[in-house]
Amino acid sequence: MSRYMSARFADLEAYVPGEQPQDMQYVKLNTNESPYPPAPAVLEAAGAAETARLNLYPDPEGRALRQKLAEMYGVEAENVFLANGSDELLSFAFMAFCDGERPVAFPAVSYGFYPVYAQLYQVPCTQIPLREGFVLDPRDFCGLGKNIVIANPNAPTGRAISVRDIEEILRSEPDHVVLIDEAYIDFGGESCVPLIKKYDNLLVCQTFSKFRSLAGGRLGYGLASKGLIDDLEKIRYSTNSYNIDRLTMAVGIATLESNEYYLENSKRIQEARAYTTEELSKLGFETIPSLANFIFTRCPNVDGGSLYRELKARGVLVRHWDRPEIGDWCRVTIGTREQMDVFLDKVREILKGAD
Ligand code: PMP
Repeated sequence: MSRYMSARFADLEAYVPGEQPQDMQYVKLNTNESPYPPAPAVLEAAGAAETARLNLYPDPEGRALRQKLAEMYGVEAENVFLANGSDELLSFAFMAFCDGERPVAFPAVSYGFYPVYAQLYQVPCTQIPLREGFVLDPRDFCGLGKNIVIANPNAPTGRAISVRDIEEILRSEPDHVVLIDEAYIDFGGESCVPLIKKYDNLLVCQTFSKFRSLAGGRLGYGLASKGLIDDLEKIRYSTNSYNIDRLTMAVGIATLESNEYYLENSKRIQEARAYTTEELSKLGFETIPSLANFIFTRCPNVDGGSLYRELKARGVLVRHWDRPEIGDWCRVTIGTREQMDVFLDKVREILKGAD
C-alpha cells in the first residue's frame, strides 16, 4: 500500500480469483467456466458491423437486452438490471442495501467475494455456519433482522436449497433484502425468479459466465421488484452508466436467441458431473451432491492441498482453499467428458503414488 492510499483500506483483503497460469497448456477445471464455446450466432454478433460503431457509447439503459431477458423470464424490463458480470451486481447490491444499520449475513462457507464486499463497504457481517455435510438449514437464516445473501446452488459446495426454503427466509425478513445468487442455477437447480412478483425484498442475481459460455464477456443481471432495481440503477448511474459495452450487449442478445444450444451443453455437463462423481466414488472419494457445474470432493488418503498440487504438476488445475473448514476438499469444475477422463486418469496416477 502506498502512502497515498486511504487508511480505511489498510486491512482490506482483496478477492483472489482462480489462477490463470500461462506457463503451459492446462486442463482448466478451476474457475467454473463452460468448456464449450459460445453458440455460432454469438460469434457473428460481435462482428465488424458492431465493432465499426465503437465510436458511439452503448445504450446506457441496455433496453434491447433487458427487454429480451424480461420476455424470457415473463417479467417487465423494469424488473431487470444489467451488470458487468454478476460480481459488479453483487458490489452494487452491497453498496445500495447494506450499512452499519443494515448488516448482512451469509453462509460461512460460500462465495469468497461476499466477505470482501462486506469489508470494502464496511458492513458488519455474520457468517452462519452450515450443518454437517455443508447442508444449509433455512431456519438458521430466518428472522435474523439482517440482509441475507445465499448462493443457490452454493459455491464451492454445489449444494442447492429448494424454492420453498427460500420463501421461508423471504417471509421471515420482510424488512431486509434477500439476495439469491443463482450463478449456477442452470445446471439442475430450481430458480426462485417467479418469487420476485410476490416478494419485493427478493433480488436474484444471475450471470452469462457459466451456463451461457460468456465468462470473458462480463455480463450479469439482476431480477427484482422495480423498487430494488431503481435503487441499483441509482448506484450504477453514480458509478459507471456505460457498464455494458456495445459488443457485449450484441453478444448477450444473440446468446439468449441460442438457448437450445446452451441447454444441450448443460445436459452434457450434468452427464459428465454424474460420471465424474461415480468414478471418484469408486476411488473412495466423498463428493457433495452437486447441482452446479462443479463438484466439491475429498479423498480419504490425499489431503486437498496435495491433491491440488499433484494435479497441477500433471497439467490439471482445480481449486483448493487453505482454510481449516474446507482444507480437505477440492472444487473441480465439470468440463467435457474428455477433460474429466484426463482428470480421473491423473487422480488414479496420484493415488497409486500415495499407496
Ligand atoms: N457468484 C458466484 C457464486 C460465483 O461463483 C461467481 C463466479 N466466480 C460469481 C457470482 C461471479 O460471476 P461473474 O462475475 O462472472 O458473473
